[in-house]
Amino acid sequence: MSTLKAVRGTRDLLPPETALWNRIEATARGVFARYNFGEIRTPVFEDTALFARGVGEETDIVSKEMYTWEDRARAQSEKTQTLTLRPENTAGVVRAYIEHQLGETGQLQKLYYIGPQFRRERPQKGRYRQFSQIGAEVIGPASAGSESPLRDAEVLEMLATLLDELGIQGWTLHLNSVGSTADRARYNDALRAALLPVAPRLCVDCQRRAETNPLRVLDCKVPEDQPIIDALPVIADSLDEDSKQHFAAVLAALDAAGVPYTRNHRLVRGLDYYTRTTFEFTHGGLPPHGASSAGTPVLGAQNALLGGGRYDGLSEMLGGPRAPGIGFAMGEDRLVLTLQAQELAAPQVPQVQADAFIAPLGDARDQAALAAINAAGLVLARELRHQGLWIELGDGSFRLKKSFEAADKCARQIVILGEDELKSGILTVKNFSTGVQTKVPRAELAAHLCLI
Ligand code: ATP
Ligand code: MG
Repeated sequence: MSTLKAVRGTRDLLPPETALWNRIEATARGVFARYNFGEIRTPVFEDTALFARGVGEETDIVSKEMYTWEDRARAQSEKTQTLTLRPENTAGVVRAYIEHQLGETGQLQKLYYIGPQFRRERPQKGRYRQFSQIGAEVIGPASAGSESPLRDAEVLEMLATLLDELGIQGWTLHLNSVGSTADRARYNDALRAALLPVAPRLCVDCQRRAETNPLRVLDCKVPEDQPIIDALPVIADSLDEDSKQHFAAVLAALDAAGVPYTRNHRLVRGLDYYTRTTFEFTHGGLPPHGASSAGTPVLGAQNALLGGGRYDGLSEMLGGPRAPGIGFAMGEDRLVLTLQAQELAAPQVPQVQADAFIAPLGDARDQAALAAINAAGLVLARELRHQGLWIELGDGSFRLKKSFEAADKCARQIVILGEDELKSGILTVKNFSTGVQTKVPRAELAAHLCLI
């Protein structure tokens, strides 16, 4: 029979790597709490229409990357629905904001999420079909200050803090403004006109984009196209006075807070719902479209750690009230890769070990005695674990030598539990780093094991 494997583009995460994932998530939760964000958990699948409307039919995500299926009705009362595994989480959060009328509170909603997303992409390093995002959204009625450039600056400052606390070195914040819907329409026209004479020299994808969605041309990563694209008009010249002022205020607040950034005119992002501020944090110093730049970042071509922006019209696009907002999504897989690479370059931290290994010693030929000593081992492990110790439990059928070998691999001390120890209540403990062997009364065992 052929063996079954994890599906292409999906992965198992095993210890000790999962410890790193947990550390990243714990750090993120800690930072979000200090900035007064609360957690939201939305379903992993939604009505396909949510993404078609919220993310945009023309985007790569919706046009090629979604896992979509017909979900057959199971009863007369049900309708067959078209469902999709979420490729991103902002649309789901905004749907929940509308569905639960969170705008009625009159307050800003500051929500974060951590969870899997699904896109049918070509798998490669840092790019998977199931991946995890850590993201947050600030959304609310305009009267709650949701449109304020201060919100943009605060989110960006929070991200700088989070990346620093995670220990990510050498990140770059790329910043742009795509203006209002009207600004973008104006820019689209300018771009379309400028593309007309040069489009035939661009890649096939760009030739199509030049017709359907000229803004997407700016996302192109084909090296030969870069000089032509760099010479196209920039969106900053199409912004109206309000958009210009909004962006200037974001930059001024970042300058005041000492958060470094570079302006990147080509950063329009892949999703249709963005307005005004858009941003990406990359690793390795390359711009997000840096196919032509030098350097070998850890993430290769996948050097974007996170992306986000303002989406002032999204709620209305989904049939909700006006609710300006700003948010971001971080690729957790890419944070892990970056931190792993950094740790390889730095001195290795010793692996964390259990406080003690309990070695029940029995007679493998006597099933009843073996069962009794194993049960006694479990009782002792339970006692110590309840006292907060980190315990690994061996097996009564192991010989003493095998117990010592197993213990030495995963714990700092070994506790011998044989018939004699059980009767006398005095246990033998050996500390592997000092080599010292001691007799310890059971009542003092927890305290003794904590001492080193
Ligand atoms: P990219 O240009 O790398 O495809 P994107 O613009 O599609 O990124 P977003 O939709 O903005 O990405 O998602 C935010 C972040 O999620 C990205 O910056 C990246 O870190 C991560 N991400 C996106 N797609 C994947 C994937 N398939 N596998 C792993 N991480 C991903
Ligand atoms: Mg993508």
